[in-house]
Amino acid sequence: ASEAAEKDLVIIGGGVAGYVAAIKAGQSGLSVACIEKRGMLGGTCLNVGCIPSKSLLNNSHLYHQILHDTKQRGIEVGEVKLNLEQMMKAKETSVSGLTKGIEFLFKKNNVEYIKGTGAFADEHTINVNLIDGGETSVKAKNIIIATGSEATPFPGMTIDEEKIITSTGAIALKQVPKKMVVIGGGIIGLEMGSVWSRLGAEVTVVEFLGQIGGPGMDAEIAKQAQKLLGKQGMKFKLNTKVKSGEESGEAFKINVEAAKGGKEEAIDADVVLVAIGRRPYTAGLGLENIGIETDDKGRLVIDQEYRTKLPHIRVIGDCTFGPMLAHKAEEEAVAAVEFITKNYGHVNYGAIPSVMYTHPEVAWVGQNEQEVKASGVKYKVGTFPFSANSRAKTNLDTEGMVKFIADAETDRILGIHIIGPNAGEMIAEGTLALEYGASTEDVGRTSHAHPTLSEAFKEAAMATYGKAIHY
Ligand code: FAD
Ligand code: NAD
Repeated sequence: ASEAAEKDLVIIGGGVAGYVAAIKAGQSGLSVACIEKRGMLGGTCLNVGCIPSKSLLNNSHLYHQILHDTKQRGIEVGEVKLNLEQMMKAKETSVSGLTKGIEFLFKKNNVEYIKGTGAFADEHTINVNLIDGGETSVKAKNIIIATGSEATPFPGMTIDEEKIITSTGAIALKQVPKKMVVIGGGIIGLEMGSVWSRLGAEVTVVEFLGQIGGPGMDAEIAKQAQKLLGKQGMKFKLNTKVKSGEESGEAFKINVEAAKGGKEEAIDADVVLVAIGRRPYTAGLGLENIGIETDDKGRLVIDQEYRTKLPHIRVIGDCTFGPMLAHKAEEEAVAAVEFITKNYGHVNYGAIPSVMYTHPEVAWVGQNEQEVKASGVKYKVGTFPFSANSRAKTNLDTEGMVKFIADAETDRILGIHIIGPNAGEMIAEGTLALEYGASTEDVGRTSHAHPTLSEAFKEAAMATYGKAIHY
C-alpha cells in the first residue's frame, strides 16, 4: 500500500453526485480526490441510465416515425431497416464522449481520480482496492459518500441481463424481443418499454397501482399518457400484481393476478424487464467500521446540511433521501461542497422537475392535483391543449396539453404538468417560475415567441387566471 496522503475532501463514487462535487470542490480550491470503482466516471446516469436510454429513445423514435409518420408530410421513403448493432454503437459513442469529458474536467479542476473500490478503514481513512491491482489509502478532513443506487430485484426472479433484465440489460439487448413483459409501470418501465415497442416488440406493462408513471405524476396526465402509449401499441395491466415467473422452454410465463386478489392469468414473454424501483447502494463501504447505519429503506441518514452523525462525513444523491434524479444529485453536490467551504448551501426540493422521455414527453414540477387536493388548499386549474397551438399544428404533433395548478386566492403557482412535444425542455420555464414564486398571471403576461410550443405554456397560464386566446 502506498503512503496515505491527506486531502481536504475525498468523495466515494464518481456518479453525477460525486463527480459534480469533485469539480465544484476543485473550483473552490480544495484538495480533492474522487474514488470510482466502475472504471468510468458518470455513474449510473452516464453509463447505464439517463444518457444511453435517451440515445435509444431518440433513435427508436426516429425509426418509428420514419415507419409510420412520413407520408402525410410528403416524404416517401423506400425500405426501412433496423440496424440494432449500429443503434447501440451510436449510444456507446454518446456515452464514451461524455464520460471522457468528465475525466478532462477532473484534470482541468485538479481533481485526483482514483480508480478503485473505496471502504472506510476509520472515520478519516479510506482504503481503496485499485482496479489495476494493489491497494492504496487516502486520508481526508471531509468525506462525501455518493455511492448511488441499484435496481430493486424481484423476489424469485434471477436477473441475467439477457432474458430477465433490469434497465442495464434493456439498454443492451442484442435483438428485438418478440414479447416483452415489463414489471412496473414507472419511468424506467415506460421509457424502456417505449424503446422496444417502437422497435417491434409486443410490450405488456404490469403495474400494481391503478395509474402508470410512478410516484409524482398527475393522475389526469398519467391517464392521457397511458392512452397515447396504448395507441403506439403498448399494452397495460393496471391494478395487477406479478405473482411468479416460470420458464417454459426458451420463454417465460409470468403469472399475474388482480392486485386486490382474484382473477389470475399467465402472460408469455421472451424477455422480462424488472422495473419496480431502485434502492440505495452502500454495500462494501465498511460503514460498520465507522458506526454509521442505514434506515429501513437502505438510505444513509443525514441532516439538512447532508451530514451523517459524524459531521465531517456527508451523503448526497441516490444513496440518501429524495427523488433518484441526476439533476437532484447535482444540486446536492454543489450545496454539500458549499456547506464545507462557506457554511451555507441551498436546494429547493419543492422545485425539482421530473421528465419522462417517451413520445410525447411528460414533465412536471411542484405538486400534482391529487397532492394539492389532499393538502386542503383552495386551488384553480388552467389547461391548454397542443391541438390549439400553431407550432404543434405546423409540426403535425398535436397530442397533449399544459396544465397549471395555482392557489385560488393568491394565484401563486403550485404545480405545472405537461404532456406533449418537448415537454422536458418546456418545464425549465415552469421550474424557474416556481423557484421565484411566480403567479400564473406573471407567466401569462410574459411575451412568448410565435410560433413556438411555449405559447401553449403561456396560454395555459392565461387560462388559469383568466381566459386563453386561442382556445
Ligand atoms: P450513481 O450514478 O449510481 O453513481 C454512484 C457511483 O458510485 C457508481 O458509478 C458506482 O460505481 C460508484 N461506487 C459505488 N460504491 C463505490 C465504492 N465503494 N467505491 C467506489 N465507487 C463506488 N435521472 C434523471 O435525472 N434523468 C434521466 O433521464 C434518468 N434516466 C435514468 C435511466 C435509467 C435506466 C436509470 C437506471 C436511471 C436514470 N436516472 C435518470 C437516474 C439517475 O441515473 C440517478 O439519479 C443518478 O445517476 C444518481 O447519481 P449518483 O451519483 O447519486 O449515483
Ligand atoms: P419507479 O419508482 O418510477 O416506478 C416503479 C413502478 O413499479 C411504480 O409505479 C410501482 O407502483 C411499480 N411496482 C412496484 N412493485 C411492483 C410489483 N411488484 N408489481 C408491479 N408493479 C410494481 O421506479 P423505476 O421506474 O424502476 O425507476 C427507478 C428510478 O430511476 C426512479 O427513481 C426514477 O426517477 C429514476 N429514473 C428517472 C428517469 C427520468 O428522469 N427520466 C428515467 C429512468 C429512471
